Amino acid sequence: MAIVIRDAEVITMDVRTGSTPVTRSIRIEDGVVAELGATVRVQDGDTVVNGRDRLVCPGFVNAHTHSWEYLAKGRYDNLPLELWMLYSYPILGGKPLPPDLVRLRSLLFAVESVRSGVTTLVDDVLETPSQDFAQLDAVFDAYDAVGVRANISGHVINRPFIDTVPYAAEWLPSDVVDQVRATPLLSAADYLDFSQEAFRRYAGRADGRLRYMLAPSGPQRCTDDLLAGATELALAHDAECHVHVLETKTQAVTGREFYGTTLVEHLRRIGALSANTTLAHGIWTTDSDIATLAEYDVCVSHNPVSNLKLGSGIAPWRRYHDAGVTLGLGSDGCSSSDTPRLPEVLKAAALLHKVTEPDHTAWSTADEVLRAATLGGARSARLHTDIGSLEPGKKADLLVYDLNTLAFTPRNRLDLQLVYSENGSSLRQVMVGGEIVVDDGRVTTVDEEALLAELRDRLPGIQAEQDRVESRNTVFHEAFERMYRTCAAEDVGVHRWSGPPGAS
Ligand SMILES: [Zn+2]
Repeated sequence: MAIVIRDAEVITMDVRTGSTPVTRSIRIEDGVVAELGATVRVQDGDTVVNGRDRLVCPGFVNAHTHSWEYLAKGRYDNLPLELWMLYSYPILGGKPLPPDLVRLRSLLFAVESVRSGVTTLVDDVLETPSQDFAQLDAVFDAYDAVGVRANISGHVINRPFIDTVPYAAEWLPSDVVDQVRATPLLSAADYLDFSQEAFRRYAGRADGRLRYMLAPSGPQRCTDDLLAGATELALAHDAECHVHVLETKTQAVTGREFYGTTLVEHLRRIGALSANTTLAHGIWTTDSDIATLAEYDVCVSHNPVSNLKLGSGIAPWRRYHDAGVTLGLGSDGCSSSDTPRLPEVLKAAALLHKVTEPDHTAWSTADEVLRAATLGGARSARLHTDIGSLEPGKKADLLVYDLNTLAFTPRNRLDLQLVYSENGSSLRQVMVGGEIVVDDGRVTTVDEEALLAELRDRLPGIQAEQDRVESRNTVFHEAFERMYRTCAAEDVGVHRWSGPPGAS
């Protein structure tokens, strides 16, 4: 039995009509778009949906996020990355989250995501103090239950955290330094073994809807053999290898101090760049870095809301486009942007780059933003042959908006209104692989009310633990504050803040 959506306004994102809405019908069969055209086949037993007054577009790909942070939503403000991380990813005193809480967290995270139009999550799952299979199983189980598509990582940091930034270790009390350096860390072989096992364990999970992804945290946070080994393993499985690179000015200073070059150039030298690599952020890249990323066909996940919240800087959107680097859009975690919803990210991406230069012909366009939120994210997730556009043969991951809403009234340019006017409130149906996971604005697959109630019950215990760990990590604050300010005042040869170069 098929579902036929008749005579809807459709943004296909295919090569012919791109982001321009056209009136089309869609036949969905066995989870894929079987036909798309002015007319399509209708057979007895098909479910036929009247698509008039509806806008249909490909589901959004959240190309960079961390479900771990869901429980820290709304806890922090006005902290730059290096200080914020001390509390959101504590160095000392963290206890492993029990798998049932990981599952609850992941369910809520996925529910909020799909309700905003996200059909694919690139979830870089970092558990502190470290990750095990019971926790990773819980994430896979949760996304299986909700029905979302996802790349799910084993995230790894295998250097003592205080040694992943310049200067700070010298300014910390020696007993604290000793304690951090004594914390056991994975070797490259440990992580690659874990990842091999994960590929076996999750192969074909949920009909291939859920995939394991490699995620060495960053070039300054992982050993060279781990970074190179993860790149190789990702290629062997055609999986994504997801790496945080040059999110902040501190990291630009780090490249110079640790390797005498940029972090992108360091990754190139050690063999850790490939077409399966996605850099999260990529803000403080030089023109030469951008050329290297284009040469190796590396993608970049752009996360403007998180970058604004943490004051990280403004990624060079136009330079990436000019160089031919594929961009995806990400919300980043729920502590650095406080929501996994993607409409805000689309709007921020469309707006932010208009203040970077007076030449309005170089500003970000709604078409580029929609492309990044769909095809770009799909490419970065290594899913571009399956999703990212609506065309015959691709998975039926799609969004259905009601056009009789305030956001779409008056109907002028639906593509512009989708980016600038719509905030998720007009979204009626969300389909992943032909399955309806949101209907009439409600998640159909899990009991959202019950999940919210369960979290409310558990919250006092969760928050008491967060408070305890937070106070344990204030010991790092002063040295990291000094390090942050020192790096902010240095000249790294690129400028991604709106103040004068070198301003701290
Ligand atoms: Zn991140």
